[in-house]
Amino acid sequence: MTRLYFAYGSNMCKTQMAARSPGAQRLGSVEIAGYRFLINKQGYATLISDPSARIFGTIWSITEQDEAQLDIYESVASSLYLKDIIDIPNYGPALVYFALDQAPGIPGIDYIEAIIEAARDQGFPLPYIKELASWRVKAGEPVANFHTNCDSLPSTAGAYVLWIDLPNALSIRLSARSPTPLAAGRYLYCGSANGPGGIKARVGRHMRLDKSLRWHVDQLTTAGKVVGAWAFPDAQECALVASLSHLPKPIPGFGSSDCHHCISHLLEWPATACLPYFMSWAIKDSLSADRR
Ligand SMILES: [Zn+2]
Repeated sequence: MTRLYFAYGSNMCKTQMAARSPGAQRLGSVEIAGYRFLINKQGYATLISDPSARIFGTIWSITEQDEAQLDIYESVASSLYLKDIIDIPNYGPALVYFALDQAPGIPGIDYIEAIIEAARDQGFPLPYIKELASWRVKAGEPVANFHTNCDSLPSTAGAYVLWIDLPNALSIRLSARSPTPLAAGRYLYCGSANGPGGIKARVGRHMRLDKSLRWHVDQLTTAGKVVGAWAFPDAQECALVASLSHLPKPIPGFGSSDCHHCISHLLEWPATACLPYFMSWAIKDSLSADRR
């Protein structure tokens, strides 16, 4: 008797599976909507339900002995991982292991590298590889705070990421370029604030509607809604752009006329794309604080 098994973490690796479950046969790779990849507090990969996301993985055919071995490696007996069945497009019901702990955390560096390498081997799309790579967080690295109004923002110098929702399409004008259309949707803008009043003053200005149009981003903040901002005291805006490199950049040169590193400081945030751990966790924290 064999059954299907969907692996999305280190069990995508052929060598690991050959050692753990020698009878396993790799059938193919699939994308499943409605789930997202997450590294939990214990440092292990899991999947969580998220209607706006998708996860990629490997379909294996495994024997009963293989499954018994996997149960041991996944510590099913101590409930580190639980077992479930999910429906895989074009294949049917498959076994999946998911962690009981679903709070975001930090992976071991060898562990996340093995997952990224297996994802690359299988030719998963580059934005997904970059999403996995965004979990390369060092232990002790700070989690950014997300602010929905400027009162709580720090007055120190640093960088920030602004989340702007555009309810309607917008034509953006950059100097010396023809107007560029921006579709309605979610956008992230990375900026720096090194003047008086620091991040608080700069983001406060972005959140105000009554202002003269001075920077490229003013065209978005006056046409759309600034949902909030992540503040990074002492950080550099280009480092933030780099950490969001899996996101599409809709307009080359936007906000980066004097930057030699980045194509653009404006990024699109499609519904299916996840933010790096140090940002997505902060949103959850902030929104649940709003509800309290
Ligand atoms: Zn830059």
